[in-house]
Amino acid sequence: MTNTSDTCQVKTTCPYCGVGCGVNAEVSDNRLIAVSGDRDHPANQGRLCVKGSALHETTGLEGRLLEPRIDGASVSWEQAIDHVAQGFRKTIEAHGPDSVALYLSGQILTEDYYVANKLMKGFIGSANVDTNSRLCMSSAVAAHKRAFGADLVPGCYEDLELAELLILTGSNTAWAHPVIYQRIVAAKKARPEMKIVVIDPRQTATCDIADLHLPLKPGSDGYLFTGLLSYLADNDALDSTFIDNHTEGFDSALLAAKQLTGSVAESARLCGLPETGLGLLYDWFSRTEKVVTLFSQGINQSSSGVDKGNAIINCHLATGKIGKPGSAPFSITGQPNAMGGREVGGLANQLAAHMDFSDPANIELVETFWQAPNMVHQEGLKAVDMFQAVHDGRIKAIWIMGTNPVASMPDADFVREALQRCELVVVSDCIEKTDTTACANVLLPATGWAEKDGTVTNSERVISRQRGFLKPAGKSRHDWQIICSVARAMGFDAGFEFTSPGQIFTEHAALSGYRNNGRRYFDISALESLTEEQYNQLQPVRWPAAKQANLNPKRLFQSGQFNTPSGRARMVAVTPTAPVNRTSEQFPLVLNTGRIRDQWHTMTRTGKASRLLNHIDQPFVEISPEDAAQKQIADNDLVEVSNALGRCVVRANVTDRQPAGSLFMPIHWSAQFTSQARVDSLIAPICDPIAGQPESKYCPVTIRTLNSLWRGILISDKELADLPCEYWCKVPLTKGFRYELAGLQQPDSWQQWLASITTISPDRIELNSTSAYRLASFNGNQPELLFFAASRAHPKEAHLKKAHLKEALPNSAWLSKQFAQPISTAAQRMALLAGKPVDNSTDCGAIICSCFEVGEKQIQQAISQGAASTDELAAKLKCGSNCGSCLPEIRALLN
Ligand code: SF4
Repeated sequence: MTNTSDTCQVKTTCPYCGVGCGVNAEVSDNRLIAVSGDRDHPANQGRLCVKGSALHETTGLEGRLLEPRIDGASVSWEQAIDHVAQGFRKTIEAHGPDSVALYLSGQILTEDYYVANKLMKGFIGSANVDTNSRLCMSSAVAAHKRAFGADLVPGCYEDLELAELLILTGSNTAWAHPVIYQRIVAAKKARPEMKIVVIDPRQTATCDIADLHLPLKPGSDGYLFTGLLSYLADNDALDSTFIDNHTEGFDSALLAAKQLTGSVAESARLCGLPETGLGLLYDWFSRTEKVVTLFSQGINQSSSGVDKGNAIINCHLATGKIGKPGSAPFSITGQPNAMGGREVGGLANQLAAHMDFSDPANIELVETFWQAPNMVHQEGLKAVDMFQAVHDGRIKAIWIMGTNPVASMPDADFVREALQRCELVVVSDCIEKTDTTACANVLLPATGWAEKDGTVTNSERVISRQRGFLKPAGKSRHDWQIICSVARAMGFDAGFEFTSPGQIFTEHAALSGYRNNGRRYFDISALESLTEEQYNQLQPVRWPAAKQANLNPKRLFQSGQFNTPSGRARMVAVTPTAPVNRTSEQFPLVLNTGRIRDQWHTMTRTGKASRLLNHIDQPFVEISPEDAAQKQIADNDLVEVSNALGRCVVRANVTDRQPAGSLFMPIHWSAQFTSQARVDSLIAPICDPIAGQPESKYCPVTIRTLNSLWRGILISDKELADLPCEYWCKVPLTKGFRYELAGLQQPDSWQQWLASITTISPDRIELNSTSAYRLASFNGNQPELLFFAASRAHPKEAHLKKAHLKEALPNSAWLSKQFAQPISTAAQRMALLAGKPVDNSTDCGAIICSCFEVGEKQIQQAISQGAASTDELAAKLKCGSNCGSCLPEIRALLN
């Protein structure tokens, strides 16, 4: 921490994605006033993406859960802790330890995770503790364990820059891990000969820098890599010395690959790719020394995700492209502390400190170290099975921490129903209103990012401090404090007497080294004796960090030694399979899901920064022009995407980036932000049989247009609820809230419709015609409510096309800006109602650069005036010159 007279700078870590960027937080008077990238942090070296750059816009008190509640009533912490402890204790007494469960999050810190895992597995005596990381990377964890003997990520981010061939598969890196993408872009600029291949059914923003894009058939990735192994063997491209000296299982792995994909032609057929394109990738892989294959959710979120991960790893092992600079199979995690959770054993099939239940000696070791009175001896229920058990009553009490399963679990409506049936649902969160807190009996206010203190581990095994620099909001407490309080109230005093996160961390570090002697690669015992001061000052440190040999290698397996009993890597005979659910006449399209650039998870935090909604403000479905034409869907139409499990109502985005036969929807919108777009309500709870990770990338659905008769925009200084129309979407603004609306039936009276949802000031101006209604009301010189509706309900307007409705409405972004301004003259009031500036200046179009709020029309104008490169546009408009997240879109406009 550095101090000036009234501000201080604190080094901390971004709470969003698995890149784990270091952040300088500038704090004044218990307020976060600015953030910047930490130049000293190895992950980002000073960079931040647009989400990280907006962190200071998300730490306000609005929307925070500030006090404990039981059944909606405020209670003291003592009452809340006692209620939870007695509820859990009585349930366990009556029904056994497996009748309770914890569901954790890759957002909580390692110290929180450690005590939660210890409480369940050592003291309550159940392994029913799982985490939302199950949805994100559990397939990669299982693949690592099968191949390397433990959950070990071999490489580091520097390898992505050193690679001569970088394969990005199942990863829209440009949007999901933007700072990593920026590092790759910079490496490619410095070494244009570096080849980049993107394997993805969609043409994503990541393809912007690709030398080769392979738009394979959804779900066919496994065949691509078994085909690659066959090709390597057929083309004398194996590293026989490495195979002989450092691996086992090669023959059976190759045999399985040959049986499935014995030729390039067969692989191309199964992947739906041209043989030439696939052959080119195979040729590059076989002839290039330094290759990194970066994989993420597109591989993991599959009913065959573990086999797909091992199919990738097999290719690297067969060619010795591992443990060397610029060579590795590299799983990049989604969440900021998914790795930390894995390290403490936060998954139901893990024990602790990278040990599992397969060896009774591990269980005895952890039992002894913890002095555990009720040590569990077998795996617990993984996330999907856990909520099934809640639904059928086997689990009667569940405690959910820092995550939103009613929005993010597959078959999300079933999960909501499960929680509604459950006898005791405890939710710890920093946010008051989420789809999950709505189902809770007990709400426990947890501290948020800027208040929490502890550590996180990123995708390259770097442990960083997340430092609390604001006072806990309201009565909120740290997760580790809440867990320890409940543990003590349940009678487990010994084992939970921690008074600081540093004490928990050093115990975690000591367990990692306990009776280790080089047996487990996850060893951070060099950190077990940190003093509080040393813990507070801890700089980013990479594991392993063993007491005896504190080497912190950037790369694992450099000596060809792996963490298996034989010391050899296992090549696994994999038979990746096609997705379980198939398309049908009724559900002919494949829905793929994923992230967008400027939002995180279910928007509980990024949704607070209005700037982050400038880029994309409403839920959407991407559809190819062919499918759109066949279904008579026009761009921006309101559509229904549905299957037997659920239904979503979103806007259609017709784009040739989407291949025919498949759709894409983002994962972010919950019931707090829109009427019906929880995409996980459509996803079947079909999982990988080993990892338990759901198949979230392949979901058969159908789509149809909804014949909206009217569309509207409503801007209010108050948050509104229960809007009576088919579609609404809330967009928080710097002042107030904007609602994008659409209806299938036009109200008889717009005045009455408005009066049913809010009060309207008598100081108002209105415009009413057969096809339009507009109202602006004021409180003094401040706009209080703006409402614009365009309709084709009247017989005279029936000829209007749906698309005309949007054209008949003013520009939302312009209106939103005006709403925050004082309006002092009659001309300004009329301009507001007209929905156009008095001086007739044009709007800037859809925002492309969120950092500097530069719109598409401004960029197009600058291009038409001669700007010919991203650098020239940055010089003129500043767009793309901060976080760089928008550069792929700017390049697309230039192209
Ligand atoms: S890439 Fe962006 S979201 Fe991810 S850690 Fe860095 S700043 Fe945060």
